[in-house]
Amino acid sequence: DATIYYDDDADDSYLNDKTVAVLGYGSQGHAHAQNLADSGVDVVVGLREGSSSRKAAEADGLRVATPTEAASEAQVVSVLVPDTVQPAVYADIESELEPGDTLQFAHGFNIHYGQIEPSEDVDVTMIAPKSPGHLVRRNYQAEEGTPGLLAVYQDASGEAKEEALAYGKAIGCTRAGVVETSFQEETETDLFGEQAVLCGGVTELIKAGYETLVDAGYSPEMAYFECLNEMKLIVDLMYEGGLGEMWDSVSDTAEYGGLTRGEVVVDDHAREKMEQVLEEVQNGEFAQQWIVENQAGRPSYRQKRKAEKNHEIEEVGDRLRELFAWSETEDEESESEEKE
Ligand code: NDP
Ligand code: MG
Ligand code: MG
Repeated sequence: DATIYYDDDADDSYLNDKTVAVLGYGSQGHAHAQNLADSGVDVVVGLREGSSSRKAAEADGLRVATPTEAASEAQVVSVLVPDTVQPAVYADIESELEPGDTLQFAHGFNIHYGQIEPSEDVDVTMIAPKSPGHLVRRNYQAEEGTPGLLAVYQDASGEAKEEALAYGKAIGCTRAGVVETSFQEETETDLFGEQAVLCGGVTELIKAGYETLVDAGYSPEMAYFECLNEMKLIVDLMYEGGLGEMWDSVSDTAEYGGLTRGEVVVDDHAREKMEQVLEEVQNGEFAQQWIVENQAGRPSYRQKRKAEKNHEIEEVGDRLRELFAWSETEDEESESEEKE
């Protein structure tokens, strides 16, 4: 089983007398920088000249410099700009890294697929919160934790793991628990999950169900509620208590129908396709395609985005969410619940 680390396993002193440069002040960057600072770590945020994020970082009371200046000053450089721009930002800061310094990531893509090749004398580590940045910040302020992953790709100093744990503690991850993994495992499971299940799989399942009902003559409103809106309620139950709590909460008819028909839809053919998607993650084919797509200015990405926006279910959903008061009230409720 995977090892899980908590606050007691982390020693703050590995970040004593060190400066952490947080490159980027977006989703993860703003959370890491503020949590580190509130934990007493010396932080400098690295943002390019004229960056639209500069105002926010300064307003939050943080010191801001260019990525190069920040990296030059720091012993730990946390790379929290978007994955697609990391290789270019790394090229600018590479010469600022001294032996024993640390490159710290929140996702393994660029290291695992060789888009960033750090020199052998620096530590390369990962603390990856399994959550969007705004929750990493909110949980920290509420004195709660955010589960995360820890990985060491390169340990030049002999203290890479201890320092990463101290970083994980300072951003609040060891309060909840940090699971030890590798750059390879984190990258491959993250990509597979978002492609086959979380983002890609779920949206296709929803659209296919919606289209099947509408094509058979049922109303788009019914199809929307059935295939998209109710998804949240079902997933909430699984999140709370696993598949079992969901099956216990639905009717026996729904349970029997789901247990017998689910595997008719997601059949051996779908499983073979999942294996194929995993293989393209493992052999680097997906990574290569995404890198080339970016180099070409994202032509097919734009096209796919547009087609998705124009799907009928989006228009129906906009209209229904406008007509019914539930969505806003529900958001407000969960906001106030979380604040308690
Ligand atoms: P964001 O897209 O939120 O990062 C935006 C920040 O990067 C802004 O401050 C932006 O500044 C800066 N930036 C963008 N382009 C450049 C550039 N060329 N040079 C310098 N700064 C630039 O990133 P995320 O927080 O989403 O992702 C950061 C890392 O965290 C990634 O590795 C990601 O995989 C990982 N991660 C993300 C999670 C998430 O939920 N978002 C969850 C777990 C991991 P400007 O104002 O100048 O544009
Ligand atoms: Mg993920
Ligand atoms: Mg991902």
